[in-house]
Amino acid sequence: MRATLIYAAGDIRVQDVPDPKILKSTDALVRVLRSCICGSDLWPYASKPATEFGSRIGHEFLGVVEELGSAVTGFKRGDVVVAPFMYSDNTCDFCQEGLQTSCRHGGFWGVGDVDGGQGEAVRVPLAEGTLVPLHVGEDSALLASLLTLSDVLPTGHHCAYSAGVNPRTTVTVIGDGAVGLSAVLAAKRLGAEQIILMGRHVSRTDLGVEFGATEVVAERGAEGIDKVRELTAGDGTHAVLECVGTLRSFETAIGIVRAGGVISRVGVPQYGEIPMGGGEFMNNVTLTGGVAPARAYIEEFLPDILEGKIQPGKVFDRSVTLEEVPDGYRAMAAREALKVIIEG
Ligand SMILES: [Zn+2]
Repeated sequence: MRATLIYAAGDIRVQDVPDPKILKSTDALVRVLRSCICGSDLWPYASKPATEFGSRIGHEFLGVVEELGSAVTGFKRGDVVVAPFMYSDNTCDFCQEGLQTSCRHGGFWGVGDVDGGQGEAVRVPLAEGTLVPLHVGEDSALLASLLTLSDVLPTGHHCAYSAGVNPRTTVTVIGDGAVGLSAVLAAKRLGAEQIILMGRHVSRTDLGVEFGATEVVAERGAEGIDKVRELTAGDGTHAVLECVGTLRSFETAIGIVRAGGVISRVGVPQYGEIPMGGGEFMNNVTLTGGVAPARAYIEEFLPDILEGKIQPGKVFDRSVTLEEVPDGYRAMAAREALKVIIEG
């Protein structure tokens, strides 16, 4: 089959790899219908040292069950299923607590002998715990929105939910990438009435407004902080959803969080030390967030997508075929595309 490998920064190749096979009784084989490129795939795309053999990449996909290991129940051949961005047994103590990203038996796609998601098919370990049936056909018009259940939608939700967003909280979302826009959608869904979106790309912030943002702040740094303070009678917001991951965006979060408020971060941090000192102590600022246990949230969001209440698939603004994936990476890295979906 064909699959995507990364060899080095800027070097993505689609090539022949061995067809996946069932290796364990708990595996399933899924033929991929849709996958996509993640903002976090852009970190290795920017910096991976050169390698001789390349490694499989991609962690967001949905597809059709083609074959099931003997121990897998709850699915049948032909079911359309989505996979979260990590696999998990969904039965261990961490999974039972809703923290499938810390599953005692789980792991990442594209590591070791586990397939990446950007390919024609995937061997899914721990299939019964990992996969969620979507109850749609292969030709459903909802596939793009359903694909966001793999990562960006649960990640945006995790950010808002961890911050305790509710109808009484004011919210700032930092970042107009696909996760930031998903955080806007999630905050709106949790009832927030004021949602300030910080972002500079008008086409993206326009979608943010469609998703529920009430104000857009294009300024960054100290100017951006001043703008948010102006919009909140000088106080800042109860919840700050940090969806970028840079030190600069964290410093912005510190600047706009209200006393007693919460900073929730889901942008993979590109810094090692957190600048929280006496001022934040005196203001009772809480820091939360982290990698999103996507598997924990999929069933909760599925009905909203199937009923058309939310359309998170609007974050995809470019479609490529599997063979065109290298150009999809280029377009996302160049900020020509917000998020690239891989179809066929
Ligand atoms: Zn587990």
